[in-house]
Amino acid sequence: MLEGKVAVITGGTRGIGLETVKVFKENKAEVILFGSKKETVDKAIEELKNENIKVKGYYPNLNNFEEIEKVIEEIVNEYGHIDILVNNAGISANKKIEDTTSEEFSNIMDLNVKAIFNVTKAVVPYMKKQKDGVILNTSSMVSIYGQPSGVGYPASKFAVNGITKSLARELAPSNIRVNAVAPGITKTDMVAVLPKELIDPLIKTIPLGRIGETRDIANAFLFLASDFASYITGEILSVDGAARC
Ligand code: NAD
Repeated sequence: MLEGKVAVITGGTRGIGLETVKVFKENKAEVILFGSKKETVDKAIEELKNENIKVKGYYPNLNNFEEIEKVIEEIVNEYGHIDILVNNAGISANKKIEDTTSEEFSNIMDLNVKAIFNVTKAVVPYMKKQKDGVILNTSSMVSIYGQPSGVGYPASKFAVNGITKSLARELAPSNIRVNAVAPGITKTDMVAVLPKELIDPLIKTIPLGRIGETRDIANAFLFLASDFASYITGEILSVDGAARC
């Protein structure tokens, strides 16, 4: 489904991002993953190598536009083009507002929102020149319903939806599609750190009766990245088993 395409996936070292790397590779894309540091990028590349999957990895500071710009330029010089960007890196929060510092609130915004702005800004000039491109963002079901604590996280994901819908309109004339996937509770490290008292009752309320697998989310990215979604842009696709948090 992605033969001949070059894809960059941020937060590609584990969880939803790593599974998306695998699914894109199975569908014949060239994939470059981004992670937060050398050790985790090396570990992911090693894990993939053991499964006979070859990818390149980088670890630019996603809050430093110049650093990202340089890496994207390097990628385009090596592969000739850049067709798909998956803005997936993200962190969550679950503390009550009284226990959350304004620095913690800013940290979430910096990664979940500003990093999307930075990486997208670095990639768009190439996609505009090609008159072709797909940008996909990882939102969350909390971008629709909010959540009972950890206000920075849903706030950041509401912003992701705003970026998605706005850039879809801005970039459509250049044939660049922009969509987001809004996962429900998905089996990754991000969920493993949340207290059992928060997760167990939530799973009970999911109509499909199970937690999401990373492949459920990666398959949604695959569809949106492919030509099967050629007339879909500005969409926030819920992949949550009809969960309502
Ligand atoms: P994860 O914690 O397993 O992976 C997060 C990824 O983000 C990692 O690859 C990590 O390297 C990267 N990352 C973290 N901090 C970074 C930093 N400072 N700089 C660069 N990269 C950094 O989490 P996940 O569950 O796979 O989450 C991936 C995305 O899915 C996130 O945007 C998250 O908000 C979203 N999401 C997850 C769930 C869920 O239930 N797991 C639900 C809805 C949305």
